Amino acid sequence: MARILFASDLHLSTARPATVDRFLRFIAEEAARADALYVLGDLFEYWIGDDELSAPDGDPLARQVADAFRALTRGGVALYFMQGNRDFLVGKAFIDACGASLLADPSVREVGGIATLLMHGDTLCTDDHEYMAWRTTTRSEAWQRELLAAPLALRRERAQALRAQSEASKKDKAAEIMDVNAEAVREAFERYGVTRMIHGHTHRPAHHLLTVAGRSCERWVLPDWYGRGGYLLVEDGAPRLVYF
Ligand code: MN
Repeated sequence: MARILFASDLHLSTARPATVDRFLRFIAEEAARADALYVLGDLFEYWIGDDELSAPDGDPLARQVADAFRALTRGGVALYFMQGNRDFLVGKAFIDACGASLLADPSVREVGGIATLLMHGDTLCTDDHEYMAWRTTTRSEAWQRELLAAPLALRRERAQALRAQSEASKKDKAAEIMDVNAEAVREAFERYGVTRMIHGHTHRPAHHLLTVAGRSCERWVLPDWYGRGGYLLVEDGAPRLVYF
């Protein structure tokens, strides 16, 4: 019985110790009994560079999470990590420390015998033009090089300021702007020729059924962990959302 787990939007932070405890239990219990765990972005509230693991003033949470993942992968569970919009600076050092494999966004993987499109989900939110422009900026090599050259403490301050700015701008945005665009969803199903998609980011966990070019398709949206949290379990090919 193959058991594959999908989680995203955990938003781990030392500011929310209960969620960190929930994560450590999830890894030691549910994930340890699985064949594979896919983390589809926003594992961390923010990630400002892999030197969090090695710098004297690095966040101890970084090491704690890497150690938990390392124990999981040493136990034989395959771990796949996709970057989200909060942790797109996760790099090789963190991935290697976890014993994980980095997954590109998007990726098509065979899950329970079905070709499945995996995404973080932010690229589907095409109605949020302000966010899409910001995304393009922050994915440029020059922007990232400049940011990573700054001392860790300065990057932390900058990330916190950006978070505050983003929260303030979200208050003025209509809820539908921050959800996926229906046309972008249909395009993704068509472009990758799949009938199943799994993503996070929107914090609107659901199982959506739709017809694209005459084919029945399904879109699974993962829950965030700001609330009670949860994950998607694909057991013997059948997916279901599990809440804590
Ligand atoms: Mn996100």
